[in-house]
Amino acid sequence: MTTTTFRSRTLLTVACALAGVITAQAQTPQQPKPAQPSSQSSAQTSSQNSWGAAPQMSPEQQENFPPQLRGELEAIKTAALADDYAYQQLAHLTENIGPRPSGSAQANAAVDYVAGELRKLGLEVQLEEVKVPHWVRGVETAELVEYAGQVPGTAQKVVLTALGGSTSTAPEGIVADVVVVNNFDELKALGREKVAGKIVLFNELFDKQKAAAGLSFMAYGEAVRYRGAGSKAAADLGAVAALIRSVASADFRLPHTGWSQAAGIPAGAVTAEDADLMAHLAAQGKLRMRLTLTPQKLPDTTSYNVIADLKGSEHPEQIIVVSGHLDSWDLGTGAIDDGAGVVVAMEAAEIAQKLHLRPRRTLRVVAWIDEETGGSGSKTYTKDHASEFVNHVAAIECDTGAAHPIGFDVKISPHAIELLRPVAEVLGSIGATALQSSSYPPGADITAMSEAGVPTLGILQDGRLYFNYHHSAADTLDKVLPSELRENAAAMAVMGYALASMKDPLPR
Ligand SMILES: [Zn+2]
Repeated sequence: MTTTTFRSRTLLTVACALAGVITAQAQTPQQPKPAQPSSQSSAQTSSQNSWGAAPQMSPEQQENFPPQLRGELEAIKTAALADDYAYQQLAHLTENIGPRPSGSAQANAAVDYVAGELRKLGLEVQLEEVKVPHWVRGVETAELVEYAGQVPGTAQKVVLTALGGSTSTAPEGIVADVVVVNNFDELKALGREKVAGKIVLFNELFDKQKAAAGLSFMAYGEAVRYRGAGSKAAADLGAVAALIRSVASADFRLPHTGWSQAAGIPAGAVTAEDADLMAHLAAQGKLRMRLTLTPQKLPDTTSYNVIADLKGSEHPEQIIVVSGHLDSWDLGTGAIDDGAGVVVAMEAAEIAQKLHLRPRRTLRVVAWIDEETGGSGSKTYTKDHASEFVNHVAAIECDTGAAHPIGFDVKISPHAIELLRPVAEVLGSIGATALQSSSYPPGADITAMSEAGVPTLGILQDGRLYFNYHHSAADTLDKVLPSELRENAAAMAVMGYALASMKDPLPR
């Protein structure tokens, strides 16, 4: 997941927190609710009436989700909770194929692998050609070579990693004074005179209390702007390199990479511990660093979105997208970001095939390429398919990890939220009943579709630990619990099939 998405999610979370309510939370059978006239379809109305009243389906809900379909959704959930397909696929993607940065041999091997697996399920598979950036990591070392109290003849190692988009230092590195700022205002106040020729460190803290309280995406959004825009702001004042404090909710002296705006200077992320060290030493006097970062931007290369259709029985032209992104950062193996999203989307089709359930509309599994380094996969899909968006009934992306699902972030109308309540109730036994209204698209790759009016959904997960590992070498298979991945697969499969088989297309 990239900066833009997280900024969006942050604003969403802020909005929800201020309102003090979740706009529309599906009722579980334990939350009885009085019968409502069918004209009362607004989610707000439902929410206001949700305390202590028995849930009864409106005529519109009954028509769209008759007993047979509700039974199928229960069967899909039950099958998903007993299915290791997604986990086996994730194990192959992360351990056998490995890291999948855009432009890499592994990313393209993953494209071929996922396409092959979806063909094995009997889906109609196309590879959609995408031109992707190809940035490769080089040497990344740094040491403090001059600081207050330094023992003669010694230096202190700094642990860091290059940010995507970073340019290279000279092979032997650069040596420059370090200036530490806490925010953009402090940088601006220093001005060109005190910044030019120096290495700038943005020492923005990640708010761990917010993360622990379940607001990790808000904390991420606050800190990540320095990763996105810091190097450009520093370069504009003549800095020779820009560093950030890693954007993360745990400190194990582990650097976290990510996308950074191209600024024409080397850009990196130091660990939280090293950011503290540098801030403390800079406050005591002169601080000089030797910095060596030698990434390379290679020519753009060819990759693919994988698009696989389980054709609808009645309305094959109407599409429900279930998706995740196949590319990952290179430090770890992209298990939580976002192999997990891809494999739960694959399982949505696998379960339908296994149970011999044919959706009324087409269930389209998409494994997006290049979410992390520019979004060229979703841009290409938008260019190639914009004229069909009128028939894209809904799109789901899972790109926030693999932890326990609470429900869905949804950018759909209040009427549509209320209409989907019976689907959320099916997921009540795993606690995934929330339909949390979002004013922003709940997934980077489905943003253009959302802006074109397509209803969009993202799986809403327990994100408290996500940023401990996100974009670091620790994003590996062991961070995914098979039981929680099964819950996510159940959520994706149930919602995907419900949207594909309810009587009418979800209203916009
Ligand atoms: Zn992601």
